[in-house]
Amino acid sequence: MADIIQLLPDNIANQIAAGEVIQRPASVVKELMENSIDADCSEIKLIIKDSGKTLIQVIDDGKGMSVTDARMCFERHATSKIRSSEDLFTIRTKGFRGEALASIAAIAHVELITRNAESDLAIRMLIEGSAFKKQEFVQAPVGTNFSVRNLFFNVPARRKFLKSDPVEIRHIMEEFMRIALAHPDVFFSLNHNGNEVYHLPKGNLRQRIISLFGKNINDKLLPIEEVTDNVRIAGFVTKAEIAKKNSGEQYLFVNQRFIKSNYLSHAVRMAYDQLIQKDQFPTWFLFLEVDPATIDVNVHPTKTEIKFDEERLIYNYTRVAVKHALGKYIMSPTLDFETDANFVQTHSSPPANGSGNEKSSYHQSAHHLEKENLRAWENIYSGKVGSAIGSNDAMTYVSTMQGSLHDEDTAPLASSRSKEPHQIHNIYIVCHVKNGFLLIDQQNAHERILYEGFLKAIAGGPRAVQKELFAETVEFNASTATMINQLLPKINNMGFEIGEFGKNTFVIHGLPAGMEPGTNPSILLEQLVSQYKDNLELQLGIDENLARSLAVSSCIKRGRSMNVEEMKQIIDGLFACETPFHSPSGHKCFIDYQIEELKKKFI
Ligand code: ADP
Ligand code: MG
Repeated sequence: MADIIQLLPDNIANQIAAGEVIQRPASVVKELMENSIDADCSEIKLIIKDSGKTLIQVIDDGKGMSVTDARMCFERHATSKIRSSEDLFTIRTKGFRGEALASIAAIAHVELITRNAESDLAIRMLIEGSAFKKQEFVQAPVGTNFSVRNLFFNVPARRKFLKSDPVEIRHIMEEFMRIALAHPDVFFSLNHNGNEVYHLPKGNLRQRIISLFGKNINDKLLPIEEVTDNVRIAGFVTKAEIAKKNSGEQYLFVNQRFIKSNYLSHAVRMAYDQLIQKDQFPTWFLFLEVDPATIDVNVHPTKTEIKFDEERLIYNYTRVAVKHALGKYIMSPTLDFETDANFVQTHSSPPANGSGNEKSSYHQSAHHLEKENLRAWENIYSGKVGSAIGSNDAMTYVSTMQGSLHDEDTAPLASSRSKEPHQIHNIYIVCHVKNGFLLIDQQNAHERILYEGFLKAIAGGPRAVQKELFAETVEFNASTATMINQLLPKINNMGFEIGEFGKNTFVIHGLPAGMEPGTNPSILLEQLVSQYKDNLELQLGIDENLARSLAVSSCIKRGRSMNVEEMKQIIDGLFACETPFHSPSGHKCFIDYQIEELKKKFI
């Protein structure tokens, strides 16, 4: 048989490659706008007709191209962005595969007008289905102007499968927003069928977010700015109260490239754990900067997925950073969030090389974050400042208070007695903080404290037992007894000392320390088990369920009077928690009252 294998002609090869890179008009928008960014432009105008089916035009004021480059740019694997395989490890540009323009030119009518600073005239080129049709000199400013018409004119199957105009324009707007968010220092506009949909002046990230999502988001934005040896993480998360039932707005950028990562989204989600309902989604804009050598961008043709060398590390760091931002907001609600003027600069400078012992440097930073959390609490909770750091700091606290209030308001607040917590209606604890007071729900707060303690104990953390003077036996029905048997090691980890006594009977020698005085051991165990069974519906993990059940069964209830020492223990315990804001079942542990806010109410 004769030889039958032939090389495909370029136009067919390009058309096949286009199938991967260009799926819809929005893909063209992405590729062209990214090229403009790579050309160091300071403005990009996007003009669309009929959701991109008739026209996609991108005009930039970037560095433009020489005549030869303008011709070369449509060749497959033609790029100015990398030269050797080593360059793949230092990529800072959006493009590097050199296939976008070749692909687009294979499946559309393309007009390119471009001029660089060295040329007096611009070059204009027309290409249709990979075939050069025309080349001429024209007058035009420095920069590049691409028009892509009749997309998929020669791939009818593709054209037929384009979605309705509203769907395609939504995709386009999404690509436009991703690039606009990643580059707040560049001007962008989007015009669709003659209407200006977006007009985004240059600014900082906060201003860009507001121009895209509206003014209302402004006071919901919580800034993040954390740096370790391995990653710099910046951007904004938003207050839990604006979490949405649909998937909301979640933007992750790595080295200014929009990335889809379920894994890292999960990390953010975990940081919001217990602040929002299971079916809600928070809005966030996160920018990670890493050494390009530690990621692989080349795992997907559209480059929206990447691989991190240290994925777990980045996951943990993201979670901690977001948690920190959320915690900081609840801790000091008057924090000036407008101080991000330098954001763009700091954010674009590369992080330090992650050369040393990466694990330990991460742990140090995580530890540092937790420490900082505590310090912030100490700042607002006066009792803790006094007891933990010493009387000098307590004095500072009082004088800060005086400084921040008018004289006539100061006297009653500044007296040292006022720093003691109070209980009202045997339900709430009033606790003085720097700019106002916290109203703590004693039951929810205690539930939270116990819950976190029991969780740690189950996982093998410190366990405190209070021995019973007389061992008690308790009998259960067969199925409950089987269940207790299975759970017994974990139950004992929480501080119980329970042994099997045969025939569905157990003997209790000890209870977790710190239970309410007069607690009846067998009733407590029964409550624990019945709570545990009720919670099975919630499909929690075993540890979480056990810790929750015992916390609910044994916490200080509303209606119980408390002395000052007990109240202080609740306050200290609560603010030493990882998540002091809500009880395990999602109820608020405290409400924060600001003096300034209260003053307004008395006008
Ligand atoms: P890549 O972006 O991967 O290099 P493309 O096919 O998108 O591949 O572009 C090919 C080349 O054309 C780029 O490397 C760049 O040199 C040049 N180019 C494309 N768009 C522009 C533009 N808007 N301004 C200046 N140069 C451009
Ligand atoms: Mg490109």
